[in-house]
Amino acid sequence: MERVINFAAGPAAMPLPVLQEIEKDLVNYKGTGLSVMEMSHRSKMYEAIINEAREDLKNILNLNDGYDILFLQGGASLQFAMVPLNLANEGDLAYYAVTGNFANKAWEEAKKWLNAIDLTNSMEDKFNYIPEIPVDKIDSSARYLHITANNTIFGTMYDKVPEVPVPLVADVSSNILGKNYDYRKFALAYAGAQKNLGPAGLTIVIIDKRYLKENENKYVPTMLRYDIHSKNNSLYNTPPTFGIYVAGLTFKWVKSMGGVAELEKRNIEKANMLYDILDHSDFYIPFAKKESRSIMNVTFNLKTEELEAKFVEEAKAKGMINLKGHRVLGGIRASIYNAISIDEVQKLAEFMEIFEKNYR
Ligand SMILES: *Cc1c(COP(=O)(O)O)cnc(C)c1O
Repeated sequence: MERVINFAAGPAAMPLPVLQEIEKDLVNYKGTGLSVMEMSHRSKMYEAIINEAREDLKNILNLNDGYDILFLQGGASLQFAMVPLNLANEGDLAYYAVTGNFANKAWEEAKKWLNAIDLTNSMEDKFNYIPEIPVDKIDSSARYLHITANNTIFGTMYDKVPEVPVPLVADVSSNILGKNYDYRKFALAYAGAQKNLGPAGLTIVIIDKRYLKENENKYVPTMLRYDIHSKNNSLYNTPPTFGIYVAGLTFKWVKSMGGVAELEKRNIEKANMLYDILDHSDFYIPFAKKESRSIMNVTFNLKTEELEAKFVEEAKAKGMINLKGHRVLGGIRASIYNAISIDEVQKLAEFMEIFEKNYR
């Protein structure tokens, strides 16, 4: 079977050159006689892989030595707990911008430990937009404000990093390296790898070292402490070695594509191809409000669930898979991360036009 076009939200499509490089080196990595999967994480060979991945990512994001990159496990969901446990003490004030399902989960998790307040909340509007942050309402003694940079399920995104008088924490799981933010504006940003970086099982944390002081909360498990992982070069215990290697290859691919600024341009072009169709038709009903639209996940509905099911089924027959929306929202979602090319989105756009002609 030919490779399909995978519009999944995550685990998502990987750049083909990355997969091919893995294939080439899978059983004998660069003449070492073994696979990266079989390497000791304490070996010189592996240390070179993890250090290069760290440096490449810092380089791509224009981060200097004031930042550290941690390679962890547990997914973005574990960060919902690690952020409050590391950046605050019990009962401290922290703000959450609740703009989606994952944002809400992050807030719920923080409430177990902190006085966590939802500074904005668009749940009543089914999370179809990103509310402005009311900066004047922010108490500057708060430990941080947490935002979800891209709301994967709903297809909404912060176009700019908000300017706020407290440290900013961002869940960038679904637009890291796809949207060109100034990462120096974040005290901390985290991402599960399976959307834009590599295989599931790896989580990346980007942290401003000023927030890396020794964790004084004695009940926080060792494995959940950023300071421990940082001090040990993300080798405190066995890290997800293969995932880090693959993410490292993805970073090299991003560089070869011209970096995040170039990829963002390409992503805007891709997203606009689909939004143009949504905006010029009453057959398709866009979900997210225009000013909040994501360039990574495009969400829309058709008039009936039957029609949506038909859309998914006919697209699949044409080699375009995973277009069904998240179970929380329903409808259609096309996730068009970095690995999806302009040509591939063009194919989807053409399919949408034909589908409309056939069923309107
Ligand atoms: C997918 C996703 C998550 C959950 O990630 P896991 O790695 O499965 O824990 C959290 N936040 C956002 C924005 C996501 O897209």
